[in-house]
Amino acid sequence: MGHAEYRIPEGARDDAVSVQALREAVAQFNGDRGWTGLNAANLAMSISIEASELLEIFQWCSPQEADEKARFTEREHFREELADVLIYCISMSNFYDVDLAECIREKMRKNAMKYPVEHGTE
Ligand SMILES: [Mg+2]
Repeated sequence: MGHAEYRIPEGARDDAVSVQALREAVAQFNGDRGWTGLNAANLAMSISIEASELLEIFQWCSPQEADEKARFTEREHFREELADVLIYCISMSNFYDVDLAECIREKMRKNAMKYPVEHGTE
C-alpha cells in the first residue's frame, strides 16, 4: 500500500489541499492499522509528546540558533516533528468530531477580544 492512497496528491501544497482532505488521509491511515481505540487522553498525551520532540530540537539554543535549525540545519527533523504534532491534532479532531476551521475561527474571535489591536502606537 503506497502513500499515494492517502489522498494527499504528490506535490500538492497548502493552497491546493483542504483540511478535510488532510482529515480523511489521517483517518484512513489510522483505520488501515486498526488504530480505532484511541481516546482523548491518549491523543492529548501524544500531542504533548510530539510537541516535546519538536522542542527538543531547540533545547539550549539561542533564538538565532533555533531559527537557523528550523530554517536550515535541522529542517527535515523540524518538519517531521511539526507534522507529528499536526497529525495527532487532526486525529483528535476526527475522533471527537471537531470542525477545525470552525473551532479556530471561534477561538481567534475570542483571542481578538482578549488581545485587541492597539491603535496609534506607530
Ligand atoms: Mg515525533
